[in-house]
Amino acid sequence: MSRRIIPVADARTLPPSVQPAAASTRAPGGELFDALARPLRDLRISVTDRCNFRCVYCMPRAVFDKDYPFLPHSSLLTLEEIERLARLFVAHGVTKIRLTGGEPLLRKNIEFLIERLAALRTPDGAPLDLTLTTNGSLLARKARSLRDAGLTRVTVSLDALDDALFRRMNDADFSVGDVLDGIAAAQAVGLAPLKVNMVVKRGTNDSEIVPLARHFRHSGVALRFIEYMDVGATNGWNMAEVQPSAEVVARIAEHFPLVPLEAHSAAETAQRWGYADGAGEIGVISSVTRAFCGDCTRARLSTEGKLYLCLFASMGYDLRALVRGEASDASISAAIAQIWEQRADRYSQLRGSAAAPVTSEERRIEMSYIGG
Ligand code: SAM
Ligand code: SF4
Ligand code: SF4
Repeated sequence: MSRRIIPVADARTLPPSVQPAAASTRAPGGELFDALARPLRDLRISVTDRCNFRCVYCMPRAVFDKDYPFLPHSSLLTLEEIERLARLFVAHGVTKIRLTGGEPLLRKNIEFLIERLAALRTPDGAPLDLTLTTNGSLLARKARSLRDAGLTRVTVSLDALDDALFRRMNDADFSVGDVLDGIAAAQAVGLAPLKVNMVVKRGTNDSEIVPLARHFRHSGVALRFIEYMDVGATNGWNMAEVQPSAEVVARIAEHFPLVPLEAHSAAETAQRWGYADGAGEIGVISSVTRAFCGDCTRARLSTEGKLYLCLFASMGYDLRALVRGEASDASISAAIAQIWEQRADRYSQLRGSAAAPVTSEERRIEMSYIGG
């Protein structure tokens, strides 16, 4: 029986302890550190909760069917509202913005948003690291306009090279060729360095680890293997289907010797490995077996303007209410500061332990709602 998950069911508002109006005497902007001394550096913005795929681990068709209550257009932050919030986040130390969804390339005029975000500058005057995660199905058509709008790089998701398996996984009849065409188009217009994400589900697509690694050697593409996560409440996650990253690395190394690479930064989620013969690099994102909450500098802005402090949070802070309530930039900025400074989330670190926050399944947010 399909169970309906309504992401907007709980009307989340700012908690009583966050009172932007009272705090507006604080100067807007300035670096922020949370309760565990983690700075705010990355912002992931979900621009739509809709998608043309029905990946089995993210939007199972039995739940996300034709009756699923996707957000009405009026609930979505407008592109101008997104830009305004992004600007305030950048003033608070955000240097990297990733657009996601749902499928972000389904959002109308996404190029307009990219243009506006590409024009933002950090307090030091530097441009942002601006990127986007896509399933690649519309990329062949859009790569050039995205690049022209100011996007510098892109991450494409691809879970299998075997066409029949890929179609089963996306459950929407898209072919591997559609995605590979998108990747080629992105490379042709210089959206680089290009990353490809593969979510590994043991027993479903682990047979594709080595073929994908082989395919992207010598291509300039950095392949990232992501452990299947217990996000949301609809994908029927269980630990037995998680393929630990250590096994992924070992499997690839049997065919192609690997050497560890230095992390670019402490906040980098992937552990990187280079092919010993110089054919490029891979990375593993061990969200389940090796929690990286200690360095988590990410905030997430949902499609309807709620700020989430963790992928596994069950509650977001309603920034749209402030934006549409005509709050000043200073007030919104102060609210962001108060919210971040109270943050103590570290779900993956606590997962399975007695200290783990107990979140009822119904309240867990979906990956398609908040983005990856
Ligand atoms: N639709 C776009 C895409 O698929 O690239 C962007 C949104 S999608 C939610 C972002 C990333 O999250 C994708 O790489 C996807 O594979 C990953 N993802 C979704 N559900 C996941 C899960 N349960 N565990 C790990 N990664 C997941
Ligand atoms: Fe859509 Fe991305 Fe989720 Fe797949 S992972 S269903 S492409 S949002
Ligand atoms: Fe960050 Fe939450 Fe993931 Fe930990 S579980 S790394 S705090 S998003």
